[in-house]
Amino acid sequence: MREGTVPRAGVSLDGVSKVFGSASAPVVALERVDLTIGDGEFVAVVGPSGCGKSTLMRLISRLSMPTSGEIAVFGDRSAKPPADMSIVFQSHVLLAWRTIVENVLFPADMVGVSKAELRGRARELLASVGLGDFADRYPHELSGGMKQRAAIARALLLEPRLLLMDEPFGALDALTREQMRVDLEALWLKNRMTVLFITHSIDEAVLLADRVIVMTPRPGRIERIMDIDMARPRGLAARRNPEFLRKSEEITDIFLSRGVLHGEAQAT
Ligand code: ADP
Ligand code: MG
Repeated sequence: MREGTVPRAGVSLDGVSKVFGSASAPVVALERVDLTIGDGEFVAVVGPSGCGKSTLMRLISRLSMPTSGEIAVFGDRSAKPPADMSIVFQSHVLLAWRTIVENVLFPADMVGVSKAELRGRARELLASVGLGDFADRYPHELSGGMKQRAAIARALLLEPRLLLMDEPFGALDALTREQMRVDLEALWLKNRMTVLFITHSIDEAVLLADRVIVMTPRPGRIERIMDIDMARPRGLAARRNPEFLRKSEEITDIFLSRGVLHGEAQAT
């Protein structure tokens, strides 16, 4: 990055590579990834299965170390997990024996903050994800979408500056997924945390993000970074926006040219 033009960086990766396996049979999961995510920016990463999306997220969260290159999170280059970070995975991992509000309060236990102080916030967060009436229920009483909403509320409890989401809607049906997308945008507009949203859905990436990072099949590399120029809130109507159609098509073309998608019907 040039001197004097440095924006407040949320996350920056500089020549980051990750190689698994042995020297004789290396698996290159990520190759020389350079990326800067601005503080408060919503960035989506889209790419086929196995292209290194989860690896990228694990590196940023310090669950895993890069083979080479440097990573900084809010200027911190140390190897410990960033304090201001939360992660939402595809599966909600709620604790079956805790009520929903106690699940949302779980991070308070982890960092040793008094739950009494955060109980009000936990209930507010549940209300903001449409679960106000379910705070005292148990996970088995909720649908898949509701559980994932609770997981998002839990991730927001300690007001993270960085929210990492790894295919958070991947296990949900299409209608629920659409609603979750609209609601996530509303939450983000209110909180303005830095979001890295990983998905294999082209639509979801374009509809949600300020910028979309398009990745190619292994070895995972950034193929293109696209600005998505659509006013917010985008809501449901964004699907009819010419910008959405244009950018989705552009990404589809990249995947076609890389053999990730095939244009012709396959003979059966
Ligand atoms: P994605 O999330 O895009 O589906 P991943 O980041 O999970 O992809 O994986 C990228 C590549 O790295 C895959 O080929 C996968 O098999 C390999 N990989 C991921 N984690 C490990 C690991 N712990 N050990 C060995 N190979 C791994
Ligand atoms: Mg993955």
